[in-house]
Amino acid sequence: MPCACHWTIRGSGLLWFWIICTAPSVAAEPPVAVGYDILIRNGQLVDGLGTAARRADIAIRDGRIQRIGQLKDVTADVSLDAKGLVVCPGFIDLHSHADRGILQHRAAENYVRQGVTTLLCGNCGSSPVDVARFFERVNAEGTGPNIALLIGHGSVREQVMGRANRRPTPAELARMQHLVRSAMRAGAAGLSTSLRYGPGAYAEADEIVALARHIAPFGGFYATHMRDEGTRILEAIEEALLIGRKAGVPVHISHHKISSVSAFGLTRQTLARIDRARNAGHDVSLDQYPYGAGSGGVSLYAPQWSLAGGLDAFRKRIQDASQLAAIHKSVKELLIRKLYAAGQNPADVQATHTALSRIQIARARHDERIEGQNLVQILSSREQQVTLDNGCRLLIELISHGVRGINHTLDTDSGGDVDRVMQYASTCIASDGSVFAFGEGHPHPRSYGCFPRVFAVYVRNRKLLSLEQAIRKMTALPAQRLGHSDRGRVAVGHWADIVVFNPKTMRDTASFSAPHQHAVGVQHVLVNGRFVLRSGKLTADRPGHSLSPPPVAQQP
Ligand SMILES: [Zn+2]
Repeated sequence: MPCACHWTIRGSGLLWFWIICTAPSVAAEPPVAVGYDILIRNGQLVDGLGTAARRADIAIRDGRIQRIGQLKDVTADVSLDAKGLVVCPGFIDLHSHADRGILQHRAAENYVRQGVTTLLCGNCGSSPVDVARFFERVNAEGTGPNIALLIGHGSVREQVMGRANRRPTPAELARMQHLVRSAMRAGAAGLSTSLRYGPGAYAEADEIVALARHIAPFGGFYATHMRDEGTRILEAIEEALLIGRKAGVPVHISHHKISSVSAFGLTRQTLARIDRARNAGHDVSLDQYPYGAGSGGVSLYAPQWSLAGGLDAFRKRIQDASQLAAIHKSVKELLIRKLYAAGQNPADVQATHTALSRIQIARARHDERIEGQNLVQILSSREQQVTLDNGCRLLIELISHGVRGINHTLDTDSGGDVDRVMQYASTCIASDGSVFAFGEGHPHPRSYGCFPRVFAVYVRNRKLLSLEQAIRKMTALPAQRLGHSDRGRVAVGHWADIVVFNPKTMRDTASFSAPHQHAVGVQHVLVNGRFVLRSGKLTADRPGHSLSPPPVAQQP
């Protein structure tokens, strides 16, 4: 292919597509000697597709990868020696909640230091509803990583009908459909739900189908925090697949895990079910964070009816003795289902101790002293006995304060659910994290360590994945889900979202007891061909911008 056309037709979408699809991975010499912006030499190149690493140089200009190969006699403004380092596509995090903090913490240092160059925000049903305005604000000053967004069903529903626990009227549904369509027109990548938390939990499947139909013409996908991740997870998977089939959209299962001790092992069935759907032609994918604990509002332990109308309504309900008794009973049942292994007796003091220590406080604005403590520690500091009923009373109090928790209930035993999901070919790595002020609260360490941890634990220590497989799960696979054919791979013509890291030292340092610690091992990070991290130092540049899916031929 004559390479001269590289330099003249940039911007023509169709031709670009053709070049990207037909260009050899090692480009021919350009007709005239040209200088490049950045040259990365001597690195171990991992392309993102799972292909074996190979030694190659890459040359970057105008934000794109222009050449790959043994590039001798090439000049560049900046030349980096990547000997002993991996050079690969920047990581694409399909599950971030950074929409909540990115405008205040634009550098997203905790993510950049992991090698992340794109964040998909708006997960679990929660997002800005005015996507055009959000993207405008992102682009006004730029960001470290690129920012893509899902439109959150819960946020749309709350705007139209508050936190009401009922079906929408036809007029309300039409209003929600309008908001979803507007979001997609403004560049949202799809629709997200949380059917586990209110207000999304108040929706039945037909409501989601009616909304998801409006993302189909834009090529959007449906991402879901399923209605159940414990003993009823198989029903929840069926619901997710049904919604996708009826609406005619791809399905993406968020943070796939088993969050009830008594349901450990069920990923054998869930993954087999996803396989069957994929073999039948349904485009289904999933993501996962590599930890033995999850995180979220402790309100998930309360029955959904008790949270209808929001926290103020919950606080009123627990003033009423009979409603409080009903809530207590429900919390207790769920605690037993989630935290006790099958067959364990809640009357057994040791079992109760173990179960209650599985819940740790992440964020408690009303009392920061309890952040980082688990329920057993809090009960002990109050000189209360560690019993199931005392645990329930404490939880109800914490729920009424809107506390966020870390739930140490995922199976990380060898060959357990986390391993099984990790090794599944269609699983992307994703953080479920966010951006915030360094040192604020006691967050789940995944916001700082998700991606490096995969290399440290699953590639180097346990050898469950090869380096190339791990990188694929962070790059080409999520890029494919987003529909971006010019990101997620190191290939000529692709955007230069690049990470250069040391495969021997790359690791997470954030822990559940000390979460505010940056990952180590990442040397350089480029976003759209510009440095956000250079030689381990954060730059002041903000080259990231909003990322919308490529246009679909016939948009309404
Ligand atoms: Zn979620």
